[in-house]
Amino acid sequence: MSLLDSEESTLFVDVLLPLPIPRHFTYRVPRVWNENMQTGIRVVVPFGSSKVLTGLIVAIHTQPPKNYQAKYLLEVLDDSPLVTLDQIKLFHWVADYYMCYPGEVFQVALPAGLKISSQSKVQLNPSFDDPELLNEKELIVQQTLQEKGALVYDEIAKIADVKSPYHIIKSMVGKGAILIYDELKDRYTPKVIRKIRLCQTWESNEKLLELIKILEDKPKQIAILLHYLRFIPLLRQPELNQKGLEKSSFSEAELSESSLKTLIKNQIFESFEVIISRFGQDAEDFEAQDFELNVSQQAAYQSILQEFQQKDVVLLHGITGSGKTEIYIKLIQEALANGDQVLYLLPEIALTTQIVIRLKRIFGEQVGIYHSKFSDNERVEVWKSIVEGKYPFVVGVRSSIFLPFSNLGLIIVDEEHEASFKQQDPAPRYHARDTCMVLAKNQGAKVLLGSATPSLETFYQAKEGKFGLVQLKERYGAAQLPTIQLIDTKAAGKMKQMKGGFSLDLIELLKENFNKGKQSLLFQNRRGYSPYLQCQDCDWIASCTQCDVSLTYHSKDQELRCHYCGYKEGLLRRCAACGSTQLKTMGYGTEKIEEELQLHLPDARIGRMDLDTTRSKTAFNSLIAEIQSGNIDVIVGTQMVAKGLDFEELSTVAIFDADKSINFPDFRAHERAFQLITQVAGRAGRRSEQGQVLIQTNQPSHRIFEFIQNNDFESLYSEEIQEREGYHYPPFSRLIKLIIKHVDAPIVEQAAREMGNALKLKFGHGRVLGPEKPLIERIRNQFVMEILIKMEKGLALAKFKTLLRDELDTIKATKIFKGVTVVVDVDPN
Ligand SMILES: [Zn+2]
Ligand SMILES: [Zn+2]
Repeated sequence: MSLLDSEESTLFVDVLLPLPIPRHFTYRVPRVWNENMQTGIRVVVPFGSSKVLTGLIVAIHTQPPKNYQAKYLLEVLDDSPLVTLDQIKLFHWVADYYMCYPGEVFQVALPAGLKISSQSKVQLNPSFDDPELLNEKELIVQQTLQEKGALVYDEIAKIADVKSPYHIIKSMVGKGAILIYDELKDRYTPKVIRKIRLCQTWESNEKLLELIKILEDKPKQIAILLHYLRFIPLLRQPELNQKGLEKSSFSEAELSESSLKTLIKNQIFESFEVIISRFGQDAEDFEAQDFELNVSQQAAYQSILQEFQQKDVVLLHGITGSGKTEIYIKLIQEALANGDQVLYLLPEIALTTQIVIRLKRIFGEQVGIYHSKFSDNERVEVWKSIVEGKYPFVVGVRSSIFLPFSNLGLIIVDEEHEASFKQQDPAPRYHARDTCMVLAKNQGAKVLLGSATPSLETFYQAKEGKFGLVQLKERYGAAQLPTIQLIDTKAAGKMKQMKGGFSLDLIELLKENFNKGKQSLLFQNRRGYSPYLQCQDCDWIASCTQCDVSLTYHSKDQELRCHYCGYKEGLLRRCAACGSTQLKTMGYGTEKIEEELQLHLPDARIGRMDLDTTRSKTAFNSLIAEIQSGNIDVIVGTQMVAKGLDFEELSTVAIFDADKSINFPDFRAHERAFQLITQVAGRAGRRSEQGQVLIQTNQPSHRIFEFIQNNDFESLYSEEIQEREGYHYPPFSRLIKLIIKHVDAPIVEQAAREMGNALKLKFGHGRVLGPEKPLIERIRNQFVMEILIKMEKGLALAKFKTLLRDELDTIKATKIFKGVTVVVDVDPN
């Protein structure tokens, strides 16, 4: 008899807790649950003196823990595993590789709505409509939620008059009555649209004809009816009436709103609301799945399949506008037809754009979207649906690599060069592109990396033959790559050909394009009005009280803001140092560009696309819609315009200031500048007419512009890779960055120095750089020092990581360094 079958034996389970602790915790199983125990199911457990947490069973055995008395499990949340063994394996791999704790990975991986804890907040589930399911105590909780909107864990205990409310929460979640969330942003607000349909009495053909007669002499009302029938052909398909037509459809067709009201009042039409998904597409919006690949796409597609015969990872290097998406779609269709699951990873921003809508149209119900801008509840839905086998295809951001896949056949990483695939804070500081290779290996899946501007690391692997390499060097259709012109702003300034930050050529180009009725994009990677506010008398610059950075002036809100910590203050009238009133805004943010551009092009309609104008998803989508419908002539935008956007009428792109990204002190600066400028330039002329690009710089003879102008990635690559090899940077070495922080500058310096010395002894002097002060020495009142560890390829990493962990423990145990934080960043960006 196995121990699981025995009702007699005392069982213990090792539980992975969502906490930064090194070990699993062991709990005792109440005997009645012996038979329910399985790895991968969630349990609610007590932790410490008063905490309650949701953990994951990772092992079942009969050994009590040695050094503590095991507490009992409080609740079992699942009948069958919600997390697979493969996932648990991946959590541990990530923790090990990125030097954090498995519990931190688990915490990031599992949506808050799947974790009951003493931190939980609950809200009503808006789609719950079956109160008869609830017992007495649950009804009280439901009623209180109706009044208050939200309740925390302790309040539920009080209201229901129980010691621990986890049982009630579990039961109500199970009945679909409530949703759990952790943070305010996770609160679920369904997207609701208003629809109109014919009242049931008029549904039959007979009645309908009668109605048409009745309305005959009311032209406005009959127009509404005819509009409705055009989209909902009732005579042929009466069942369609149930679905109704969006109310906005009537106003878009400029039909009389008061007549529609009258029709509703007279009980001919009725109005109702439906909750739709964020990318809500009705079935009739389906796009034809059978599009043709052109000759070069077809060839690329075939080569990818061929490469996959030999290799697990293939890089698709295709220039901007070459039609990589169509190739992805073919591959996805094929994988799905084979019964495989598919994961399509996109950088954060690209996910709200046209490409996802398109995928949704093609794959419909098969596709689940996993996005951090979605509420937690939607993420819970995707997770559960995958467990149930409902979404064979997932489009998602980096954290979707932690979803419960069981038979992945293909992972696509689009825009693989994007830095946002690496998580910065908090731990785990994992890279989704690199981690998904481990995921793919565990599941026997293939990985396709796609980019117009691959990362040097990836391209190196392809050149070395470790990855397959497939290239697409032509644009799709008749489109050609844009021409790229450089403007020397220094020379132009001397010749009095600058108006503020605008060269006369730039103004001329935008004007011309506007007169032709075409759209332009003006790119500046800086939001706000101006990055500095400086005193003209003593040179003082307004800076953050908590960070060593200048405050950015935002003119719309008349505020100075820190982009690092969120600190803000009202606009100053006087210099804080000398008292002079001669304060001047220096440099250009998108707000200032928008303002000055309006003076140069008074008739143009300008739209600004940056973090400040697109905070909400609706704002972002309506801006996109405005651009698409031609209501905007010039878009002024930050790097969020660089990704995935495809506007037919956009023919001109201008880079306002290319210098900052080139001169950034980082070994990846040139690679990043090439990627950013090429991607932004790639928005121009994606359809038929050749686009044009203008770049303002004060160093036009810089080599990088030659590469950009010739769209010559290979030359950039060979030049940069030599430098990397010469200076032992990735891909020729592995980096681990240590970020040491404390509120006291001398303490952080001492801790960093001692750590640096100890590591130099253990690792060898050549492998440890620093400690050094970073570009910004103080953030959120913490002083920062950095140490960089460089290890040649081929070294046994595990040994070094153990040494490093020991050293971290030593620092933590040193009394004077109490309060010092050391962040470990493996493969830093
Ligand atoms: Zn001053
Ligand atoms: Zn700050």
